[in-house]
Amino acid sequence: MREIKHYIGGEFMTGGTGHLDSINPTHPDQIIGEVPLGSAELMGQAVEVAASNQSAWRKQTGAARAGQLHAWGDAISARQEELAKAIVDEVGKPIGEARGEVQRCVAILRYFAGEAVRPVGEVVPSLTPGALQYSLREPHGVVGLITPWNFPLAIPLWKAAPALAVGNTVVLKPSEHSGYCAQLLAETAHAAGLGNVFQVVMGAGDTGRTLVEHVEVRAISFTGSDRTGKAIALTCAERNKRFQTEMGGKNVAIVLADADLKQAANLVAGGAMRFAGQKCTATSRVVVDSGIRGRFIDELRAAIDSLPVGDPAAAETAVGPVISAASQGRIDAAVSNAEFIYQSSKPDKGFFVASSVVGGISETDDLAQNELFGPVLALFEAKSFDQAIQIANHTRFGLSASLCTRDIGNALKYIDQVQAGMVRVNADTTGVDPHAPFGGYKGSSSGTREQGEVAKDFYTQIKTVQINP
Ligand code: ADP
Repeated sequence: MREIKHYIGGEFMTGGTGHLDSINPTHPDQIIGEVPLGSAELMGQAVEVAASNQSAWRKQTGAARAGQLHAWGDAISARQEELAKAIVDEVGKPIGEARGEVQRCVAILRYFAGEAVRPVGEVVPSLTPGALQYSLREPHGVVGLITPWNFPLAIPLWKAAPALAVGNTVVLKPSEHSGYCAQLLAETAHAAGLGNVFQVVMGAGDTGRTLVEHVEVRAISFTGSDRTGKAIALTCAERNKRFQTEMGGKNVAIVLADADLKQAANLVAGGAMRFAGQKCTATSRVVVDSGIRGRFIDELRAAIDSLPVGDPAAAETAVGPVISAASQGRIDAAVSNAEFIYQSSKPDKGFFVASSVVGGISETDDLAQNELFGPVLALFEAKSFDQAIQIANHTRFGLSASLCTRDIGNALKYIDQVQAGMVRVNADTTGVDPHAPFGGYKGSSSGTREQGEVAKDFYTQIKTVQINP
């Protein structure tokens, strides 16, 4: 069993109100470690360290902060295989994707190291003759980050890196399902000398709440469920704190009759089933032109069959277990009365769920509307492209949407009409570049986008300055 501790003021420490076991979802009899549950006192300590070091961090040059982000990237690179294996063991992500996540972490840190030296404002011509007027982006102070388990390293980093680059200090409350990955992330931050500016308080929802409510925390960036995101948004709104909530999706792929059906089937199968569908951008609905339904289903079956299900530590595995017994039970119950178009086999041991394609669903059914976070794809057919777009938009979410077509006119129409923050033509709904803006329309996100240059819109506030002669 691994040691999992809070990381406060450059020290790894125990304490709090108890612990939760972090369980290997592939081998549930293996406890990865005990995740300590932080108390209000520990959270207070972490915020205090972050607050007392913020002004010195902010006063450093952007180039100096960039140097420390590069050092963090170096520390992650030096332990990349160990980090990838920790992701496999703790959250059941297939090793190929886990290695990709670690590479993404390094890319994120390199990118935001570059952002740390970019312009921080604009000169705005003044109405007063001879005056110099400009806008200046400043950090908020202490920023709180609350993250899920499905990208246990990359999501904390794609929030922490821009926050730190522009001069905030950070307190992270990682998911209770991925405490060991968070421990390793803290160790790499420690190796990079970031102990004063990056704090980690382990725990579950209660610990997250103490972070959101702490008076010194000026902004909260959250990724997780719909329900929690809304609760956090309300708490922040009451206190006039800035918030950014990423809350998932019911992502759609449309396959038109003119598409390359084999390519489309591979994209839809991969988007829906890889990592057992546990990405906020995973494809959970497919709308098929009714003229090609039969042929597409044949291709889709073959494409899903080509994605090996099993031990995520094996190089060839594409689909591993889901995160927990609770998740497994919830997904199995949701499809228990469904009409199966396809259902894969699965290992008996571990939290595995069969990959399935379900049909005969109405647009208002739970399977069409609620995020399941599992390898379940709801199939609809449409008699026209307009009807397909109407089905695609019939959801309260709007994160990612894809279209398979060879017709540029259809592609342009889709880009214009689909209500989603990310639109992908002849690409699956997952796998957005780490330096491109990330976020959704409607119920998927609130606040400004994450990642890329626009990430600074959330992590800074603007001061307008006028200097008269
Ligand atoms: P998931 O179901 O994907 O785990 P959650 O929304 O439950 O999504 O959890 C995402 C993150 O939010 C986790 O770090 C979790 O501990 C935290 N969390 C859960 N409830 C709350 C809450 N009420 N306030 C703040 N953070 C919370």
